[in-house]
Amino acid sequence: MHPDRKLQRHKEDWPPNPASSGPSTGVGPATCEVGTLEAGELGVMAIDRRGSVHYHNDKASQLLAPGGWRAGQRLMPEDANSANFVNGNGREVALTVHKMPSGDAVVLIEDVTETPGQFEAGYRTLFENSVYGIYRDTLDGRPIRVNPALAAINGYASEREHIDAVQARPVNWYVAEGRADEFHHILESHGRVSDFVSQIYRHRTGERVWITENAWYVYDLQGYPLFIEGTIQDATERIAAQAALTNLASIDTLTGAKSRYSFMRRLDEAALQSPGGFLLYCVDLDMFKDVNDIFGHAAGDAVLKAVAARLFDLVGEAGIVGRLGGDEFAILTEAPEYLADPETLARNAVQAMRLPVPVEGRNHYVGASVGVAMFPQHGATGEELLRNADTALYRVKSQGRNGWRMFDHELRDQLEHRKKLEGALRDAIEQNQLDLHYQPVVDAASGVTVGFEALMRWNHPELGSVPPADFIPVAEQAGLMTGLGSWAISQACEALAALPSPLKISVNVSANQFRAPGFYLHLKSELTRCGVAPGRLMLEITESVLVSNERVGRLLLAALRKLGVQIAIDDFGTGYSSLSYLQHFPINCVKIDRSFVAGMANQKANLAVIRAIIGIGRDLGIDIIAEGVETREQAKSLRSEGCDLLQGFLFSKPKPLTEAVADLAVSLLPRAAKQELVQTG
Ligand code: C2E
Ligand code: CA
Ligand code: CA
Repeated sequence: MHPDRKLQRHKEDWPPNPASSGPSTGVGPATCEVGTLEAGELGVMAIDRRGSVHYHNDKASQLLAPGGWRAGQRLMPEDANSANFVNGNGREVALTVHKMPSGDAVVLIEDVTETPGQFEAGYRTLFENSVYGIYRDTLDGRPIRVNPALAAINGYASEREHIDAVQARPVNWYVAEGRADEFHHILESHGRVSDFVSQIYRHRTGERVWITENAWYVYDLQGYPLFIEGTIQDATERIAAQAALTNLASIDTLTGAKSRYSFMRRLDEAALQSPGGFLLYCVDLDMFKDVNDIFGHAAGDAVLKAVAARLFDLVGEAGIVGRLGGDEFAILTEAPEYLADPETLARNAVQAMRLPVPVEGRNHYVGASVGVAMFPQHGATGEELLRNADTALYRVKSQGRNGWRMFDHELRDQLEHRKKLEGALRDAIEQNQLDLHYQPVVDAASGVTVGFEALMRWNHPELGSVPPADFIPVAEQAGLMTGLGSWAISQACEALAALPSPLKISVNVSANQFRAPGFYLHLKSELTRCGVAPGRLMLEITESVLVSNERVGRLLLAALRKLGVQIAIDDFGTGYSSLSYLQHFPINCVKIDRSFVAGMANQKANLAVIRAIIGIGRDLGIDIIAEGVETREQAKSLRSEGCDLLQGFLFSKPKPLTEAVADLAVSLLPRAAKQELVQTG
């Protein structure tokens, strides 16, 4: 015993990072029990009612490796006093909480992982010899057990080799973007996933294989998920046989266009034997997803047919039309008139797609973006040309869609710039270069601040402050937004804990983040961790979340409402949704997009939209915030229209939390004190 040693305090930095926190010296006050626990197999820690850790021994930090404490909290039902979970090292850990009258608690942490010896012999042979891959994973998808068949599917010699390789570096398993999310959605909403067919990367070689999966949760006694278990079967041969069959059919049956496979073959042929060159046009529909989501697949199919028919009319005998995927078409032409003037066909295609598509008495507006690449200038192979036409197309999309663009080498440079930005952003996340700034929302009548909107900032050491408009789309594309968004929610909860009570904070949530698995659990556990009333947190989502008629979205909105978190619709009026949507969803607030505020003085239509939104808000009991208020005139007329809440540069730019709080404190001072403050500088 070393009576001079102090209690360890880890209020800020918990769970301790095993790499950075030095060897633990924690020995409790001079009580024998704590001293003996120190050497033992039992982890011990003391927490206060807000979840801050005031003491822990070495074993506790070892068992609750980073992320563990939070996972434990999440799995621990509010009134229960024990729970099991799997820690970051794949160990199963049992937590027992002993509440004290003060509200503080002592938590005992025990490693209860079953050893291989406990693996019942009869099942072991099944596990070892199965031709199916079998696994048991932690809830965040890291393997605890992997059988030999699964190790083989992934290209490893043994279970150990497989687990070690994957633990060291999390691997992206699914080839298709969003497939992992889909898997987790199904698992979260149904508790199991059946016959899930996907293409995956074989871990060791990166080669692509098709698999079919089944998976389910294993629950603890309280009914909380403990692990994911599942089976995996190699389906490469089956899928290859199917694909060969479909490829034989060189025509897409829905639209009559060439199938992707046969179009690509024609493209490659043309690249080998086209002396005069040719043009490749990629045509991608802009709003097709909305039609599908809102009006259903039958309407979507009808639109695709109609659109393809227009392309056939347009191209006639001068080229071929292919359907490359869902709502993506392509045109290949060697016609001299188009080679001399590529623009005409591009413009005509955009024009043709812009016309309404009538389906069962309703007009659908889909619109299209077109990217063009030329052989041989823009690529030597079909694949390269397609990639470059796609790059041009992508550029049209990011500049407001409904247009066309020819590939050029400047575009390639821009693409490279974007890739660099993506790399820098990954570094920025690791190096904590991201920050939230806070912009006040004020009461229109009194000018008093009622809350703040949290807005992300990236302070790049060389580029300076990179605006979110530049880096959020990059983050979104690189799959980084979900992580960034969770970080923003954690930050905002911490800020809320530091702000006096009626003040609210709203956080922007991207559509993908909103739909990502674990969103709700994270939000809830952060509110608990910071001891913040849910009603003080507002989530700003965009109309697209309402418009897409997804079960997940609707269920989540209902769950959030039950929790008491506030929901605001951001940039209202710029998307596809109409005022009537507001009645059908549990919404607390609508933010009028700043384009309407900017235009209200000069254009009657803008004022009319603002009036309508304010009117319906009043009827439905929804708060209305006008964004982008820059002038006194705007503030005055918004107030007279009955808009109660305002936000904009007129009141304040977004600022770091400390400055925003300082402004707030000053605004609350009596006038005389304020003047004095100004005089004393
Ligand atoms: P937003 O949600 O519409 O945020 C309001 C934007 O308007 C902010 O731009 C803000 O600085 C700006 N603004 C505020 N008052 C005025 C004004 O009076 N005049 C003008 N011209 N602009 C004003 P910011 O910070 O550049 O953010 C741009 C967008 O980036 C946000 O638009 C939001 O869509 C997105 N964003 C920012 N932070 C986050 C985040 O944490 N998560 C997600 N998903 N998106 C975020
Ligand atoms: Ca916003
Ligand atoms: Ca907005």
